[in-house]
Amino acid sequence: MTQNNGPTPSDLWQMDHDHSLHPWANFGPFEKDGSLIMARGEGCYLWDAEGRRYFDAVGGMWCTNIGLGRAEMGQAMADQAIQLGFANSFVDMANAPSAMLGAKLASLAPGDLNRVHFTTGGSTAIDTAYRMVHYYQTCMGRPDKTQVIARNYSYHGSTYISQSISKRPGDRVAQFRYKENGIHHVSAPNFYRAPDGMDEAAFCDHLVAEFIAKIDEIGAENIGGFFAEPIQASGGVIVPPAGYLPRMAAICAQHDILFIADEVVTAFGRTGHWFASLDQFGIQPDMITCAKGLTSGYIPLGALIFSDRIWAAMAADGGRWFTSGFTYSGHPVSCAAALKNIEIMEREDLLGNATRVGTYFETRMAELMALPMVGDVRGSKLMVCVENVADKARKTLLPDALDVGKRISDTAETMGLMVRPMGHLNVMSPPLTITETEVDFVAEILAKSIRQVADALTKEGVRLA
Ligand code: PLP
Repeated sequence: MTQNNGPTPSDLWQMDHDHSLHPWANFGPFEKDGSLIMARGEGCYLWDAEGRRYFDAVGGMWCTNIGLGRAEMGQAMADQAIQLGFANSFVDMANAPSAMLGAKLASLAPGDLNRVHFTTGGSTAIDTAYRMVHYYQTCMGRPDKTQVIARNYSYHGSTYISQSISKRPGDRVAQFRYKENGIHHVSAPNFYRAPDGMDEAAFCDHLVAEFIAKIDEIGAENIGGFFAEPIQASGGVIVPPAGYLPRMAAICAQHDILFIADEVVTAFGRTGHWFASLDQFGIQPDMITCAKGLTSGYIPLGALIFSDRIWAAMAADGGRWFTSGFTYSGHPVSCAAALKNIEIMEREDLLGNATRVGTYFETRMAELMALPMVGDVRGSKLMVCVENVADKARKTLLPDALDVGKRISDTAETMGLMVRPMGHLNVMSPPLTITETEVDFVAEILAKSIRQVADALTKEGVRLA
């Protein structure tokens, strides 16, 4: 397929291969195989440069919430680009879309989270939250209360600080450095990997006790913030045990530790809510970071939404400067896209669809537990993960070298389905517009792919139990 006598698919492959360094590039395979070039998207479907169609159960990257190819989104961005394609938001400048979006986010966010700082994406929202912890605690007269706690298997982004706050084992490569000093981690609330013999309530007690012990070890007077995704997304769709988040939030409040809910994935409908913190888990965070579904991926934008209390503390003496922000903070085209995106979600009741079809998705995915290799299926509404194991009773993993998640996703891809491989996991987060018929397609093709890969591994002499 050549568009307007432009480059052919193989020209594009070559250009990308010769010049691009992709996020999370794996140098060996990339130099050998290059990339799959995408050309078009509509709803939940993608077409590659050769014209092959795929159902995108990945949702881009947890982000194409309203689905691709919406002319209305294109029109809103084009109109804004023509009207005012850029305006800086520094110091005392603003523009209409960023003002309206700030007010809209304040109306959707829980409780007193009425203040918004726009960023370029999720990582920069996390960076800003980290800096705001320092700023706020210093304004409160606690300049030493600047260390932070996060969890193992968390993913908060890819800048130096956001990746230092994150801790997915696979990301911690020897060639990069991470800030260790003042950033601490406690266990992920992954019940599937809980110590043997613990029920969910005991596991929750164990996690809370670990958190209290960590605070005692560091000293509450030194800890300014706790970073937590309500559901740990890229760490393997880890839904915490009942009661865990409220108990963690209560401990934070008791010690003046700010609770930063990283809702880059969970916000804007993924689990059927604008924000999962209060509506799904009953917690009132001090800050929420969001991005992705905020524009459904049509254009980059992130936001840090924070409380009136934090604003009041920072603004208290009237003379301070908040020396943080980006050229593209409050970009009018991005903010216009976000406003249109939210309008579409409201008009089409996509949160309702995510709840209804998401419940069906959970049920169909749970059926995969009957297959060989599937040790766990977990998630909430339209974010689900399948954990592949060598031994279902013992929960032992297959060797990394077998790259089982990738083998399954490659097999699914040949049948027109995209699921995301992450080590031994396969992760899904389809657009909120997904129908029950499309859920059936995902369930059927994924089951077929898992069976095929399990058969092939058995033939290669791998023992599965
Ligand atoms: N936080 C979470 C929970 C994420 O999943 C991600 C990205 O996947 C980020 C932050 C970083 O966002 P971005 O890639 O927009 O910088």
